[in-house]
Amino acid sequence: MNDTTIISVGELLVEFVSHRKGCALRELAEFTGPYASGAPAICIDQAARMGARTKIFGGLGADNFGNVLTDRLQASGVDTSAVLRLEDKTTGVAFVSYFDDGTRTFIFHLNDTAADAIAETPFVLPEGALLLHVSGASLGNANLRVAIESIASQVLARGGKISCDPNARAELMRDQAGRDMLFRMMEHSSYLFPSTSDLEFLFPGKSEEQSIDQMRSYGADILALKRGSQGALIISGEDRFEFCGHKVQEVDPTGAGDAFCGTFLAMITQGHSPESAGRYANAAGALAVTRRGPMEGNSDSESIEQLLKLKS
Ligand code: ATP
Ligand code: MG
Repeated sequence: MNDTTIISVGELLVEFVSHRKGCALRELAEFTGPYASGAPAICIDQAARMGARTKIFGGLGADNFGNVLTDRLQASGVDTSAVLRLEDKTTGVAFVSYFDDGTRTFIFHLNDTAADAIAETPFVLPEGALLLHVSGASLGNANLRVAIESIASQVLARGGKISCDPNARAELMRDQAGRDMLFRMMEHSSYLFPSTSDLEFLFPGKSEEQSIDQMRSYGADILALKRGSQGALIISGEDRFEFCGHKVQEVDPTGAGDAFCGTFLAMITQGHSPESAGRYANAAGALAVTRRGPMEGNSDSESIEQLLKLKS
């Protein structure tokens, strides 16, 4: 699969992170930003840093927030030639604030921005083998659903593969159409990347094992369960590989899941085993939480190997 291009499509955003925990985005607080963000962007940035061939589809305003994204993605080696720069729209924005228990609240400015103005775009996919990564975070938006459906059907028609991180945040998953499409994507996926909170959200009342069984019945080759500070579990056929969480200081957990997926997919497309991909992804997720900003903790093989050496 070495000639595989990993592609992602969805919301490109800048994010502002509050310094004060518990302000809940309704009290005065200081914020840092603009950080490059959006789940598809975080994942593809990390995959590129891990040496994979990558391309992203999305929309940005012709403004400096848009430049934050293109500068960052290009510096990491992502092909941004298909990213639209729209004169009449502004770049999408998200605000996030944490609470003391580690939970967070978001406000997204996505609808009617450049981020969701890509539904009618003719998407020209790269030559060669394709692996499309879909984040459920994108599926709460009707225009992005159209764009993702269009690319996913082209990828499948070309014999390509799909991977899916449910990222089932309540804010983005309120409508039934989004949920329906998420299940459709999962049923077409070769790789599934749920987190423990995704399982609880998608299969309320079921145990972890029951939820895993349910998800595996959709037919994916590999299921990777992301367990936050507890690490990760990789299930590939009959094999199960458990990875404990690395002991790190968590500064900002947003984006750890996307960094995990980007690392795992980059490793798999470069011929590594699911076990090795899981070990690196688990370390990449740990590194991701140590920096403020959704993709500021993205890493390359060298820093991952340094963490793995420290551990062994
Ligand atoms: P998000 O949706 O915010 O990107 P997620 O909920 O999909 O995140 P997590 O389980 O939070 O995903 O994190 C992904 C992976 O990152 C975990 O499986 C683990 O490998 C690593 N990780 C996350 N948080 C920590 C932490 N505090 N300490 C060590 N490793 C962590
Ligand atoms: Mg996630």
